[in-house]
Amino acid sequence: MFKKISWISVISLLIFAGIMGASFGNEKDATSAKGKNKKVENVIYMIPDGFSSDYASNYRAYKGEEVVWDSHLKGLFTTHSADSDVTDSAAAGTAMATGEKTNNGVIGKDPDGNNLETILEKTKQHHKATGLVATSTITHATPAAFATHVEDRNNETEIARQLIESEVDVLLGGGMSNFIGEGEGGKQENGELMQKAQDKGYLLAENREEMLEQNIDIKNDEKLLGLFAEEALSPELHRKDTEEPSLEDMTMHAIDQLNQNKKGFFLMVEGSQIDWAGHDNDPAYAMSETEAFEKAVQAAIDFAEEDGETLVVVAADHDTGGMTTGGYDQMDLNANILNDVTATGEYMANQLDEERSNVHEVVNTFTGFKLKEEEIEFIKTAEDPKLAINHVVSERSTIGWTSTGHTAADIPIYAFGPKSESFSGILDNTDIPKLIEEAMKLK
Ligand SMILES: [Zn+2]
Repeated sequence: MFKKISWISVISLLIFAGIMGASFGNEKDATSAKGKNKKVENVIYMIPDGFSSDYASNYRAYKGEEVVWDSHLKGLFTTHSADSDVTDSAAAGTAMATGEKTNNGVIGKDPDGNNLETILEKTKQHHKATGLVATSTITHATPAAFATHVEDRNNETEIARQLIESEVDVLLGGGMSNFIGEGEGGKQENGELMQKAQDKGYLLAENREEMLEQNIDIKNDEKLLGLFAEEALSPELHRKDTEEPSLEDMTMHAIDQLNQNKKGFFLMVEGSQIDWAGHDNDPAYAMSETEAFEKAVQAAIDFAEEDGETLVVVAADHDTGGMTTGGYDQMDLNANILNDVTATGEYMANQLDEERSNVHEVVNTFTGFKLKEEEIEFIKTAEDPKLAINHVVSERSTIGWTSTGHTAADIPIYAFGPKSESFSGILDNTDIPKLIEEAMKLK
């Protein structure tokens, strides 16, 4: 009998020790995630458009080491829109900005056409500073979903007008043509928006250097409108030949400006072109855009770590291309070879001559590959040489694709900072802004 009790005691002790060990372990994690129980004053919401877990896996192989978001994975979420299993960026952006489902193509409105309040608008009501950063036009679906309300995502000139009306403090991206009047060579049918923006207190910047020099005085209601290209910014692969800021540059500059507000800020940063790489099935474009996005996330986390009251949420809006990690009956992951690729497939295709007699020369110049005869023939005879080049580069880097559109794959969500644990488990895209709202105590 005594023996039995003592065994029970030993077992209970072991269990107790196990529990204590586990809880000490958790406590260690909690202290390492600085300020876990602090309030959330600032949110940096980072959206890599078109990214999914296969992009994460391939990007780790491309980089060859741990990625900044790896240790902050919290859960997965579903992405369907109100009218489709597969969402577009407008409905996904609306869900991620407002917590409500809408139809594909619609921005900031429900399926009946009623305006939905966005998380950015709510933070503004709480006198926080706000910002939107993108590498597409700033009037593109994802940034638009945070501050505008239109039936048709393609109405980018109306989105531009509403962005200026909304008085978001910092707007950085492309899409100058949507703000300039038709008379001045732009697309804006309701007259010049640049003057209107200045009347509202916006300072302007048109390249990286001008942006870095424009430090706004938020207390005096100054704002910043940085439009660095007529349309989208250049792909990261080609940016070095331009005067455009990187996504990391824009993110850091936006944080510097918004952080002047004592009540905190809300910033949305989009890595817009990962999605476009997915539509093109272009693996080097996808990995280089993901790399540029990772640098921006690193900058945000560095700030959050120092600040202690900043929540960083990283969540894509949907998968694009149905990317696979490995494929083609190969057993290796070869994404690392993409580090040597220096142009997008589209750029390479545009360098081909009429007869495509220079396929090998062009592809070799921008990839370093020595093409096999059948690869040259495949590109020469393909209906779409861009897709054919991308197919060859994909097969060599063992990155597969199942679509040139979006898919309904569940998307990983990563979070860092106070209240980051609330993003754990299986979520829906509409849960994300609600959890942010709760974390910021906006209700
Ligand atoms: Zn998207």
